[in-house]
Amino acid sequence: MPDIEKLIIIGSGPAGWTAAIYAARANLNPLIFAGRAKQIPTTELPGGQLMLTTEVENYPGFPHGITGPVLMSHFASQAVRFGTRIVSDRGIISEAAPEGTPAFDWHDAKSVDLSRRPFKVVGEDDAVYHAQSLIIATGATANWIGLKNEQRLAQQGGGVSACAVCDGALPIFRNKELAVVGGGDSAIEEATYLTKYAGTVYIIHRRDQLRASKIMVERAMNNPKIKILWNKVVEDVLGDKSISGVKLKDTVDGSTSELPLGGLFVAIGHTPATKFLNGQLELDEKKYIKLKDPYRTTTNVEGVFAAGDVVDSVYRQAVTAAGMGCKAAIDAERWLAEHEG
Ligand SMILES: Cc1cc2nc3c(=O)[nH]c(=O)nc-3n(C[C@H](O)[C@H](O)[C@H](O)COP(=O)(O)OP(=O)(O)OC[C@H]3O[C@@H](n4cnc5c(N)ncnc54)[C@H](O)[C@@H]3O)c2cc1C
Repeated sequence: MPDIEKLIIIGSGPAGWTAAIYAARANLNPLIFAGRAKQIPTTELPGGQLMLTTEVENYPGFPHGITGPVLMSHFASQAVRFGTRIVSDRGIISEAAPEGTPAFDWHDAKSVDLSRRPFKVVGEDDAVYHAQSLIIATGATANWIGLKNEQRLAQQGGGVSACAVCDGALPIFRNKELAVVGGGDSAIEEATYLTKYAGTVYIIHRRDQLRASKIMVERAMNNPKIKILWNKVVEDVLGDKSISGVKLKDTVDGSTSELPLGGLFVAIGHTPATKFLNGQLELDEKKYIKLKDPYRTTTNVEGVFAAGDVVDSVYRQAVTAAGMGCKAAIDAERWLAEHEG
């Protein structure tokens, strides 16, 4: 008989580590697939999306702010302190990475088999792990334009971000000319939010009409601080230590121009990390995991729970993800108490 874990957690952002802290303190001895740092810079780092941000000012408990990587190191150390084990190149380990650094030897979960219990989780080295219950907390990756200078400046806190609610209030953006790239509801929401702090907010959109809902478009059109730049794509992000502007290309006539800016927000959607589930959990039309009951973390497969940005396309905040991670661990603990043989 293989060893059967009580609980395997997949994903190591605020949701996964919080689930691990609660599960470990409830003596579930959780095993976590924390994920491997792929190519840096991307958001696919153990520790999740906060590994890509410098200052986190809105996570409660840190009145003077904290950097994303250090905050995530604290989450990991706290989970390990209570007995969380991590799947790594060195086998199963019980130690977090040094403060503020991504761990390069932690493993991804390559696939899962949810067809019967115990569930199977296959690691990237094809090792198979069995568990009575699972928590999926694999997050979502912000989509970026894909430009080298965009990634460099995002990584170094140089005024390029994928989250206006998270970063818009930072002093570096105050009273600056800002731009939001995108044309959907979240681009308009971000632009409207940024008008509280900015001088002018440009919306850079590749087409001649917005995809956003009518009411959102009207809101943007009526806001004197918002200016929409139609038929434009960002070809390059300019600036050394911090952004000084963008190079734009007109999608109709191919002409190029430069727009001086003090900040750039990319709002072209998120991709939830659900591909490895291979259709075994019910997803919504945007590929986020669908919860059976919106107040719980239950999925359509009994014994499988989900938390954080992988189920949430609305709030997408570290504190909401952590809150859901706590709920998932409590749901898993109660479910195990009822179902353990
Ligand atoms: C640039 C930026 C700045 C932000 N700033 C703030 C802020 O200031 N305040 C705030 O509250 N929020 C902020 N956010 C949002 C916040 O980071 C997210 O809401 C939060 O990280 C979501 O947590 P999560 O645990 O659900 O997922 P994530 O943080 O996305 O973590 C998921 C983890 O799972 C891993 N994973 C994925 N697939 C697998 C797999 N198959 N096997 C193993 N591991 C896997 C990923 O690599 C990742 O480490 C910011 C986001 C971005 C992009």
